[in-house]
Amino acid sequence: MGFLMHMGSPRGRAHTPDDPPEHKKILVLDFDETLSVNHMYSLLTWCDEFNVGAYGACHKDKDGEHMLHPYSINPAIRYSVSLPPEVFEAKTAYDLSEHGSDECAHCAAEYDRLMSEKVPDVLAYQIKQGYFKGGSEVIEKIFGGDERVRELRKAIEVAESHGWEGPWVLSKGVQAEINTALELAGLDDIFPRERVIAALTTRGKRNEVLWPSGTRKCDVIQQNIKTKAQDVALLVDDDAENVRDCLQSGICWGVELSDHEGLKPSTLEYFVVMAEDSLRELMVGIANGI
Ligand SMILES: [Mg+2]
Repeated sequence: MGFLMHMGSPRGRAHTPDDPPEHKKILVLDFDETLSVNHMYSLLTWCDEFNVGAYGACHKDKDGEHMLHPYSINPAIRYSVSLPPEVFEAKTAYDLSEHGSDECAHCAAEYDRLMSEKVPDVLAYQIKQGYFKGGSEVIEKIFGGDERVRELRKAIEVAESHGWEGPWVLSKGVQAEINTALELAGLDDIFPRERVIAALTTRGKRNEVLWPSGTRKCDVIQQNIKTKAQDVALLVDDDAENVRDCLQSGICWGVELSDHEGLKPSTLEYFVVMAEDSLRELMVGIANGI
């Protein structure tokens, strides 16, 4: 119900007093496995003995001494050198406390504090440490290569030519790392910092201003992206829950990507060129079926 009530008018500029007022069409994209083709948080995550279970495929090198992360941009990153020593110590204590083999009530808070202070941006840190070649590697591993980046850029232009504003990036990941990746890939012109909102501002530090604990993506869209209730916002996301929250709350429309391989530019074009009436009808149908 709320969904229908918030949708505004499909008609455009020359509205009469009987017509609903002007509204904007705003495009919002998730980052991990939507704008990116791999989960960047996993790409940058180090393997250690406690993550073996969590990530499933961490493995020891041939000498059996180091854990290697299969998704690492550079598989030579070793867990013991991918963090400064004091942060690594705090992480070890945190992992021990998490696994119930030690008593450490403050370990998680201390780890978050040290991460935020010493490694606020793991991508930038690992580049500085020489684990990455730089922009070309980021384009390849995070954004799926030059061709996809070119096609994404074209799809965004098509969206703009069909009246879509943005695009915004809305992520439950780390804002600093997303901005670093976008800048290294040369995508910060279409995704500038002021249109990137993430749940964490840096590693270990939650964005309590725009994204307090318990906030859903649709809440952020309502409070920080839509300027008027009648604005239309379309969220593209690989997380079904975010899409469902949009449709059920009536705050936004949503497209779910189910293959977790990143947004295909042709998929984006398919939705943004659709007449607004048809898109609304499609979204109402999906919302009713949830
Ligand atoms: Mg995602």
